[in-house]
Amino acid sequence: MNCEETTKLMDGYLDGELDPITSQRIEQHLRECPRCDQAYATHGSLIRAIGNATPYYKAPLELRERIQSSLRKEMAEQPNGSGSIPVEARPLIAKEQAESRSILFGTSWNWLALAAAIVFAAVIVWNVLPRLQRPGNDQFLATQLIASHVRSLMANHLTDVASSDQHTVKPWLDAKLDFAPAVVDLSPKGFPLIGGRLDYLDNRAVAALIYQRRKHFINLFVWPAAPDEKRTPEIITHQGYQLLHWIESDLNYWAVSDINEKELQEFKQLFEEQSVPH
Ligand SMILES: [Zn+2]
Repeated sequence: MNCEETTKLMDGYLDGELDPITSQRIEQHLRECPRCDQAYATHGSLIRAIGNATPYYKAPLELRERIQSSLRKEMAEQPNGSGSIPVEARPLIAKEQAESRSILFGTSWNWLALAAAIVFAAVIVWNVLPRLQRPGNDQFLATQLIASHVRSLMANHLTDVASSDQHTVKPWLDAKLDFAPAVVDLSPKGFPLIGGRLDYLDNRAVAALIYQRRKHFINLFVWPAAPDEKRTPEIITHQGYQLLHWIESDLNYWAVSDINEKELQEFKQLFEEQSVPH
């Protein structure tokens, strides 16, 4: 495990999402590398600080009772108006009302402070944590893609049609989908095609092409792109996986793997060279 790998896997490690062997390798690296250990400590304390700053507490019972009794008082007084109250009692009631208002006022300031703390914490989370940890469609989709990739490896359901022959895989997928994904074998380039699979992502049936790189697998998910989707390829690292997204011929491509970014980029380039007609 080197510094680069450790940095990449740090988030997953801090979130306890890595397998025991990888965690152990990271721990070993942290023992040997003061720089990464320092980064780990900083990152960890940041996560704890955000966790502590994000308020999850219930209002104390006493506060709740005070608010409720104040509201009850206000409501009880309103329908009568102050006309029926003897003159000598008015200052007292006015004082009580002022008090209950100040309780409410003070309370709302507490809540404002709380809201400010939440906004502050949200700003920190937004700016400091990696892009993918932000809530949003990308995160949701990335989580789905990774889940699907991991499931395909775990459940012994990597392929529906196991073949290294693109002329077998392509017709099989074409028959089951309302679009025709490009299928190419990249064996000579070190990324042999293993087969194809149907999957369900982003609320639709999608094609999954499975490629191998040494002992690693790449799931290449393909489905039609929405007309307004952004065209720039992007690489995302999430939970120790690399996700590479690009759009070609109005199809969305998402390559998901635990191989490194450089190899995944190489895979994309080879796939495009072979699949795009020249
Ligand atoms: Zn290091």
